[in-house]
Formats: sequence, C-alpha cells, structure tokens
Amino acid sequence: MDQKQIFDVVILGCGPAGIQAAIHASRKKIRVLLMGRLNKSSLFWAHVENFMGMFKTSGEEMLTTGLAQAKSFGTEVLEEDALHIAQTGRLFEIQTESGVQLCARALIIATGTTRNKLGVPGEKELLGRGVSYCVDCDGGFFRGEDVAIIGGQSAAAGGALTLLALAKSVHLVADSLDVAPLLKAKLAQSGAILHEGAKIKAITGETQVTGLELADGTTLPVAGVFIELGAKGVLELAASLGLNLDESMKYIDTDKRQATNVPGVFAAGDICGAPLQMAKAVGEGCVAGTNAAAYAKNMKLAQEGPEAGREEQ
Ligand SMILES: Cc1cc2nc3c(=O)[nH]c(=O)nc-3n(C[C@H](O)[C@H](O)[C@H](O)COP(=O)(O)OP(=O)(O)OC[C@H]3O[C@@H](n4cnc5c(N)ncnc54)[C@H](O)[C@@H]3O)c2cc1C
Repeated sequence: MDQKQIFDVVILGCGPAGIQAAIHASRKKIRVLLMGRLNKSSLFWAHVENFMGMFKTSGEEMLTTGLAQAKSFGTEVLEEDALHIAQTGRLFEIQTESGVQLCARALIIATGTTRNKLGVPGEKELLGRGVSYCVDCDGGFFRGEDVAIIGGQSAAAGGALTLLALAKSVHLVADSLDVAPLLKAKLAQSGAILHEGAKIKAITGETQVTGLELADGTTLPVAGVFIELGAKGVLELAASLGLNLDESMKYIDTDKRQATNVPGVFAAGDICGAPLQMAKAVGEGCVAGTNAAAYAKNMKLAQEGPEAGREEQ
C-alpha cells in the first residue's frame, strides 16, 4: 500500500461489525478500507446456532464469507492493527503497526472487547496500584519510573515505544514477539529491554507494585506493570481521539446512528456494549457503515463540489 492514502471510510476491526459496516459502506461506491485480522475476531473459534437464517455454522466460515462479500463490493483490506490515530483538521490520520500512514474522512471503530488477563498472582490485587491495561490512559503516572509491559503483539510493542518517552526504563516481556518487521526493528533500536521467551510468575508488592517476578527466579524491580495481551484496544484508541465512554468506562458511547461524540467517528459491535452477540454487532455495523459513508460523501461534496458526492447505482 502506498504511503498516506486517503480513504473515505476506514474501519478498524475485521469481525462481524466491521465486515458488515464495510459491506454497507462499499456499496455506496466510496473508497473503504477494512483493517484487522479475521482470526483475532471473537467469532473466529465460535460455533453459531443463534443467527437468523442459519441453523449451525462456524464463526470462521461466516467471517471468511463475509470478507469475500465485502471485497466483492470493492472493500480494500489491510491485515494490520492501527497503532495510533490522530485528528488533523477534518481528517483522521492512522498509523499502522508496519508504519503505513493512512487518512480517513470517516472512521468506524469495531475492534471488539478482548482484553486478555494475565492470570498471575498480584494482577487483580494491584490493579490501579501499578497494574494497568492501558498505556495511553495510565502511562503518564509513571514518569521517571521503571516499568514493564507484557505482551508479544502490536499493543505491547507500540506501548513500549510510548512508555519510553515517559519512563526511566521499559522492560518488554513477551512469550514470543509477533509484530511486523518494521516495528520489531524500531523496538530493537529503541532502548526497551526485551525479555523474549520469559514467563511471568507474579506481580509483587504490598500496596503498590514493586516488581515483576519471572519464572526463572529473576525479579524486575518496576513500579508499573502494563498488561497488553493483544491488539491495540478500545480504551487507547478512544482516549487518543477524545471519545466518550459509557458509565461503565468499558464501552464507547454512541447514539442511534452509531455516531460518537467526535464528528466523523462511528463505533459498532462489542465495543459499544452488551449484548456481546454477533446479531447486534452486524446490526450496528450496518448502521455505522451507512452513516459513515454518508458523512464522508457530504464532506467530499462540501470540499469538491457536486461531482464528488454523486450517488452511483
Ligand atoms: C467462544 C465464543 C463463542 C461465541 N459464540 C457466539 C454465538 O454463538 N452467537 C453470537 O451471536 N455471538 C457469539 N459470540 C460473540 C461474538 O463473537 C461477538 O459478539 C462478535 O464477534 C463481536 O463482533 P465485533 O465485530 O464487535 O468484534 P470481534 O469479532 O471481536 O472483532 C474485532 C476485530 O477487531 C480487530 N482489531 C482489534 N484491535 C484492532 C486495532 N487496533 N486495529 C485494527 N483492528 C483491530 C481484530 O483483529 C478483530 O478483527 C461468541 C464469542 C466467543 C468468544
């Protein structure tokens, strides 16, 4: 993909919400990019029996067919995570994990809710007292401190780079590092201390985190432990865009058009809250795709005149 391309609609998330949004937006004959990975959708390993019109099917099959459908309507696909999003004027600038820079007139966030737990002693007990699941939300509390970030995917690698600008030292602890080569190279030059292949035994501390204990008996003396097991998640992206969350602070707040408080940003699927079900994700994806397409078309129309916004059949 060329550097700095402008898309009408960029959709983050290749699950049922994102794919349905892509199908509806692409049929408006605008330029649509769908980002994310099929096998990272919560639906991928599911056996589905409660979707209208299907007695029994596999999540993988539904996702694969849905993606092919979206492509047939012109959706472009990039199997990468978004690492950073910023608003510049009326456009959204997106940086992917391999360093590709994209622009979008409208954005749909359909990244699901997976926020994996580490499951070690100290994680639950010290949550909010040195343990965090969100670098962009809590990184600032650890200025000048030693910190560790746990995870082998884009969220952890990107988080380590963010933390380096704040913390005294950053340990990146990963079972195995599974990120794009460019991100890996950046990390190698960054000054982050990489512990690849290390297993975590416990997070230690009485009232605050004081260390991270590895299975080989080593203890890293850190004041903060960031758990980022997966892709860049909703809280980070929402925080960087100034999106309102709902009362539980876990989900993005939208109106009936699936619009957020930031003009041009829409959200759909599990990240908008319960019920965490495919039927709801698909419905919201349809609404978000339709409204994001209209938003992008109107913006083009205002900027470039009537030819730009003409509806094609
Ligand atoms: C085991 C299991 C069984 C289930 N069974 C059923 C069932 O039978 N019926 C039912 O209705 N529902 C079922 N569900 C729930 C259903 O899977 C979810 O409700 C649905 O997948 C939500 O869709 P979504 O598009 O919102 O998110 P997801 O399907 O989770 O997709 C999220 C997408 O976002 C992408 N992504 C994440 N971060 C980024 C980023 N930073 N940049 C770009 N992309 C990103 C991921 O790669 C992924 O493609 C099941 C869930 C599980 C876990």
